[in-house]
Amino acid sequence: MTAFQTHTVDNQPPEFAPRDLWATDAALREAVLRESDDTHVARLAGYGALAGDELYRLSFDAHRDKPRLRTHDRFGHRIDTVEFHPAYHRLMSAAIEHGVASLSWQGASWSQPQPGAHVARAALSYLHHQVEPGTSCPLTMTHAAVPVLRHAPALAEWADKATAGPYDPRDIPIADKAGVTLGMGMTEKQGGSDVRANTTTATPHSADGAASLHAYSLVGHKWFFSAPMSDGFLVLAQAPGGLSCFLLPRRLPDGTKNAFQLMRLKDKLGDWSNASSEVEFTGASAWRIGDEGRGVATILEMVMLTRLDCMLGSAAEMRMALAQALHHASHRRAFGKHLLEQPLMRNVLADLALESEAALVLSMRVARAVDAAPRDPREAALARVATAIGKYWICKRAPAFVNEAQECLGGAGYVEESILPRLYRQAPLNSIWEGSGNIQCLDVLRALAREPAAGDALWTELETARGVHSAYDHALESLRSLLTTESHVEPSQARILVERLALALQAGLLFRAGSPMAAAFCTSRLQAGHGLVFGTLMHDTGFAAILDRAMPS
Ligand SMILES: Cc1cc2nc3c(=O)[nH]c(=O)nc-3n(C[C@H](O)[C@H](O)[C@H](O)COP(=O)(O)OP(=O)(O)OC[C@H]3O[C@@H](n4cnc5c(N)ncnc54)[C@H](O)[C@@H]3O)c2cc1C
Repeated sequence: MTAFQTHTVDNQPPEFAPRDLWATDAALREAVLRESDDTHVARLAGYGALAGDELYRLSFDAHRDKPRLRTHDRFGHRIDTVEFHPAYHRLMSAAIEHGVASLSWQGASWSQPQPGAHVARAALSYLHHQVEPGTSCPLTMTHAAVPVLRHAPALAEWADKATAGPYDPRDIPIADKAGVTLGMGMTEKQGGSDVRANTTTATPHSADGAASLHAYSLVGHKWFFSAPMSDGFLVLAQAPGGLSCFLLPRRLPDGTKNAFQLMRLKDKLGDWSNASSEVEFTGASAWRIGDEGRGVATILEMVMLTRLDCMLGSAAEMRMALAQALHHASHRRAFGKHLLEQPLMRNVLADLALESEAALVLSMRVARAVDAAPRDPREAALARVATAIGKYWICKRAPAFVNEAQECLGGAGYVEESILPRLYRQAPLNSIWEGSGNIQCLDVLRALAREPAAGDALWTELETARGVHSAYDHALESLRSLLTTESHVEPSQARILVERLALALQAGLLFRAGSPMAAAFCTSRLQAGHGLVFGTLMHDTGFAAILDRAMPS
C-alpha cells in the first residue's frame, strides 16, 4: 500500500450489465408461453441478450445528450429538425430490426393476423422499455398507427413501410424511403383529455393525384407532439363535418417540406432521449382517414394499442428497478449480512416482486386479448375494458414502486450512473399521457354502463379463478354487488372500483399461471392488513420462494 492510499473499494456490487434480460426473467418467459406459444422465443432470447448489453450501455448516452431542435439552417431557411445522439439512432434501428414496432403485423394479412404475434411483440416492447423508455414512444406510436392506416387503402405504402422497413431516419419523401416511423397529434393547449375541444381546422383543398386520397389543409397547433422527426403523424382536426382523423406527412410527395413549424421542445421531467415538441400547422397538407366527424372513433384503435404499451412500459420500469434492487441487495452487506438476508429488506423486495409480476401478468393477458380480438368477440370485449383498468392501475403503481426500489440501493440509487434516477423520472409519464388516471377510470365506468359485452367478458375472466382462495372469492362477491349496480357507480367512486377490479384480475391471473407469487399477492392485496407502502407483507409470507423467482440471475 502506498503512503497516500486511503482505502480499498470494498462491499460494492459488480456492474449490473451485461445481463440477459430474457434468460433471467422466468415470469416473462412463462407469460409468453402461456399467452401464446414458442414461435418467437428465439427472437425474444436474442433481443433480451442485446437489450441487457449493448442497448443498456447506449441508453445512458441517448438519455444524457438530449435531442436538440434546429429551427433554421445557417442561411436562414426553416428546417424544423431535431438532432439526436447517435446512440438514439442505434437504439431505434435495433428495435425496429427486431420487430419491436412491427412484429404484430408481420407475416400476416391485415384481416388474418398471425396468432400470438401481439403477445411476442408485447414481450419485445417490455424488454426494450426496460433499458430505454424514451425510444419506446416513437416505437409504440409507429406500431399503433398501422391498423388505422390500413383503413385507408390509398395509404398502403405507409402501412407497408411502417411494418416491413428498416429504420430510416432520413428526412425525404416516403417514396424514397425503405422504412417509416409515425407519431400522433391530439393534445392542444386548451384541451388534451377533452379532444373534442380541438380547434385546429381542416379545409378540403382538392383531389390529390389519386382520387381516393382526400386532401385537406390544416391550420392550428398541437401542444404535445412527440417524436417530431417521424415521417407522418395521425392528427385530429375540425373538418366541415366535425372532428376527423388525418395522416399528416413531414415531407410532401414532391419533396417539399410540409407547412408546419416546430416551435420548441418541451423541457420535460424525464423521457429525455425522446423529443416532445409544440407545433404550428400553417396550411399543412394532410389526408383524411375515415369519415368526417369520425376522428375519435378512427384514432381510437391507435390509442388502445398505445395504452397497452403504457401498461407494458410501466411493468417494464418496475422489472428493471426490481432487478437492480435485487442485484444490489445480493452483493451489498450491512450490519454483518447481505441486505438480501436482512428480514425487513426481504419484506420490501418480496413485496416489490409481487407487484412487478402482477403488472406483467395483467399486461400480457391484455396483449393476448388484443391478439385474439379479431377472431373472438369475447376477447375483444375484454381488451376494451381491461386495457383501461390496467392502464390506470399499473401506470399508477410505477412511481412509488421505482422510488422504493431506488431506496434499496441507498445513495447509489440516487446517482445518475445507476439507471434508477432515469427510471424514477420516467415513471409518472405513462400515467399522464394517452388518457390520464381519471380518464381511464371514467372510461371503465362508460364501458361497463354502455357495453354489456365488456362487463360480461370481465366477469367471466374473474370467475375463471373462483375457488382458488377464500380472499379471492370474497373480493369477487363484493365486486359482483358493485358490478350489478354499475349504472349507479358515481364518477367520484370510479378509482376505488377500478383499483379493486385490477387487483382481482391480477390475483386471478397469478393463480391461473401457477405463480408462487399468487397466494401472497392475494392475501396482501385483497385482505386487510397490508400497509400503504411496500414492505408490509405478513411475517409468515414465503419470502424465499418469491425472491428466488424474481432474482435476475
Ligand atoms: C411527455 C409527454 C408526451 C406527450 N406526447 C403526446 C403526443 O405525442 N401526442 C399527443 O397528442 N399528446 C401527447 N401528450 C399529451 C398527453 O396525452 C396529455 O397531456 C394528456 O392526455 C392529458 O391532457 P392535458 O395535459 O390537456 O390535461 P387535461 O385534459 O387538462 O387533464 C388534467 C387532469 O384532469 C383530469 N381530468 C380531465 N377530465 C376529467 C374529468 N371529466 N373528471 C375528472 N378528471 C378529469 C385528467 O385525468 C388529468 O389528471 C404527451 C404528454 C407528455 C407528458
